Amino acid sequence: MGNKTKAAFLDRDGVIIEETNFITDPNKVRILDNAAKAIAMLNKEYKVFIITNQPAVGRGMCTEEQAKAVNNKVLELLADEGARIDATYMCFHHPIHGIGDYKIECECRKPKPGMILKAAKEHGIDLKQSFTIGDKTGDIKSGFLAGTKTILVQTGYGGDDGFKDATPDYTVKDLYEAASIMIGDKQ
Ligand SMILES: [Mg+2]
Repeated sequence: MGNKTKAAFLDRDGVIIEETNFITDPNKVRILDNAAKAIAMLNKEYKVFIITNQPAVGRGMCTEEQAKAVNNKVLELLADEGARIDATYMCFHHPIHGIGDYKIECECRKPKPGMILKAAKEHGIDLKQSFTIGDKTGDIKSGFLAGTKTILVQTGYGGDDGFKDATPDYTVKDLYEAASIMIGDKQ
């Protein structure tokens, strides 16, 4: 028997918060307009996960604890606006610029689907009924490889990241518009 839990796998930087390139300071976190409202809307029908590459850790720019502090700040600001994240998955590695143990060709770093597959397994998610939302081609590719539907938002990089090897199912203005499509999506 299949589990019918649907999920929204959200990239964080450039989708939920302002993209600032390697954010390491919790005080620099800025929630994008209507992002919390979008997540609160998704909370009614979907489990909501943050799926994020944070190679600043692997590059030695901050510690795992600092990266978690930044993410906790995101969760706190969202909660202030009534939006809930069910779990966060972060990849700290980098295959080229990583230092020490962080320099590996891991299975979690997007565009690989490792983090989405792990979240799906741990939370009993039906990937076919789920969506991946991101501002980079790597987010879209990761969602596609995991078997979800995909939505590119035009905030953050807006898909303009130099890679063009994945095509989203939808392209929308922002997370709020993505959520509107997902809530309207009957299957
Ligand atoms: Mg991003």
